[in-house]
Amino acid sequence: MKYEENCELLEKTQLKDDILRFKVKTDKIAKDSKPGNFLEIKVSDSEVPFLRRPISIFSIDGENVEFIFQVKGKGTEILSKQKVGDKINIIGPLGNGTFDIKSYNTVALIGGGIGVYPLYEAAKQLKGKAKINTYLGYRNKELVTVEKEFKEVSDKLVVATDDGSYGEKGFAIDFLKKDEKPDIIMACGPLPMLRAVKQFAQENNIKCQVSLEERMGCGIGACLGCAVKTAASSKDAPEYWQVCKGGPVFDASTVDF
Ligand SMILES: Cc1cc2nc3c(=O)[nH]c(=O)nc-3n(C[C@H](O)[C@H](O)[C@H](O)COP(=O)(O)OP(=O)(O)OC[C@H]3O[C@@H](n4cnc5c(N)ncnc54)[C@H](O)[C@@H]3O)c2cc1C
Repeated sequence: MKYEENCELLEKTQLKDDILRFKVKTDKIAKDSKPGNFLEIKVSDSEVPFLRRPISIFSIDGENVEFIFQVKGKGTEILSKQKVGDKINIIGPLGNGTFDIKSYNTVALIGGGIGVYPLYEAAKQLKGKAKINTYLGYRNKELVTVEKEFKEVSDKLVVATDDGSYGEKGFAIDFLKKDEKPDIIMACGPLPMLRAVKQFAQENNIKCQVSLEERMGCGIGACLGCAVKTAASSKDAPEYWQVCKGGPVFDASTVDF
């Protein structure tokens, strides 16, 4: 079930110059949210920008929901100007594909850049059900966020930066490959990272879920703006998933990205 609500901004934290963490109070969105769901946020009452902006749920806490976003363009710039006490119009929870929360021996969570955020609620809900090995990759030290939060919910945490300016030097997947084989990998991040994770999972026969942050129009399955090919798609018989409806979390083996 999804709802449109005017949510009060309870807390606003500047994590980096261009990365903000918002906590909003909801009536029903939090109650119905699952790890991997996202929100469609109305950033302006004027007609520009017209479309809502999709942002993942970072954390669900009672009737509150938290999300973290990087200022990229006009929409997120306007959102970043909201003040504590303001009301933000949000539709959520959105997405039907969510992370598979159940008991496992070992789960590997791997995120890159802003893709680390949707993994946190999954980690929280998996805690106590599985050993959680988390691998977070960032381009450089300036972009490292939420390390402390993931440390609290992970049995093992590796933070890697591409240039070695913080944590381990290299790509997060390099460290996942070196560790024990997990029962499942849950991943979100840039497409090259997700492709490498999918290939590693296939080669090693590991179940793998990926959350795709495809550019979206409506977020509710009306506009086909976020279509990606299914794995069964061919030139003669093309087939598509709508990321907003079928995902954003998919079994990696069912989607061609
Ligand atoms: C399901 C989903 C979950 C998301 N979760 C988060 C999140 O938790 N935190 C977060 O910071 N961002 C997240 N995003 C990305 C976020 O929606 C975009 O950054 C935002 O819509 C940009 O809006 P804008 O008006 O500021 O920028 P625009 O003016 O629309 O675009 C500015 C720049 O950002 C790029 N951009 C826009 N959308 C995306 C996208 N989806 N992926 C990559 N680049 C994009 C554009 O190509 C352009 O270069 C998510 C996207 C999706 C689809």
